[in-house]
Amino acid sequence: MTTAVAIGIDIGGTRLRTAAVAADGTVLDRRRRETPASDEASLLEAIEDEVDAIGGVLPVGIGIAGLVAPDGVVRYGPNIGVRDLALAARLGDRLSRPVTVVNDASAAAFGEQRAGAGQGRRDVLLFTLGTGVGGGVVLGGELLVGAGGFAGELGHVIVERDGRACPCGNRGCVEAYASGKAIGRLATERLAASDRPSGLRELTSVGGSAVSRAAAEGDPLAQELLLEAGEWLGVAMASCVNALDPELILVGGGAAKGVAPFALPAMRDTLAQLVIGHHFRVAPPVQLAALGDDAGTVGAALYAVDRTTTGEGPP
Ligand SMILES: [Zn+2]
Repeated sequence: MTTAVAIGIDIGGTRLRTAAVAADGTVLDRRRRETPASDEASLLEAIEDEVDAIGGVLPVGIGIAGLVAPDGVVRYGPNIGVRDLALAARLGDRLSRPVTVVNDASAAAFGEQRAGAGQGRRDVLLFTLGTGVGGGVVLGGELLVGAGGFAGELGHVIVERDGRACPCGNRGCVEAYASGKAIGRLATERLAASDRPSGLRELTSVGGSAVSRAAAEGDPLAQELLLEAGEWLGVAMASCVNALDPELILVGGGAAKGVAPFALPAMRDTLAQLVIGHHFRVAPPVQLAALGDDAGTVGAALYAVDRTTTGEGPP
């Protein structure tokens, strides 16, 4: 019988997902609730409740949307509303067991590499597409966390100096061109700038998912917007490939499937054109991730197991 080896928790701006995960990445128990709004105490309480509901004394791995230092302190979680929260230490005390904390997209990258579309590959990059653009890097089978814990912020690879404003405060990050929010904003600008017919004109406000739906229904303007987003992602991917030479690039996150028919070919083409030595080599494949909403919980759980069994202890 398959048994759980760890509890994985994925904390996003709106959803808090919890899963009991087996060593091969199989999800045995799955729970979901809203992320408590902007309050440290209710966040800790919500996590404790979810862990109690799963039961047992399994190690806990958390992936959280934000910048996480290697010691498990969440330096900045703008969508969760926390700052300098010693999440690993405080939860470890409350739950009397090892607690590991990493960035949510990094956890998802690790999950995909261990148990999803990246299985069997040692060097894998993941771009997550949703309201924002996230990322994670697995090299040599290990999750890259970086010196400060901030590695893998692939959404903030700068593709145009002094370009469009990014929510991170910089300009020209790929997130400012390819996130759901950015695609919605570009659509609104594009509609205002011309009289081109588009089904999007009937909507009061246009977001990324509306653009994906319109593109699937054959709307040329929507298709063009997704293709452009794919090209910007391809530019960012080329820089990442030049720096890290991965075997595989995965594209996941809530918006990935919707944009894929138009954006994925554009990512591949742009990457193939821009990668160094493109006359002499083949760029790594760009594919859809496989674990969907489970990627974060599975990755966080398997990472916790790795950290507690290698003797390194929870970071
Ligand atoms: Zn940015």
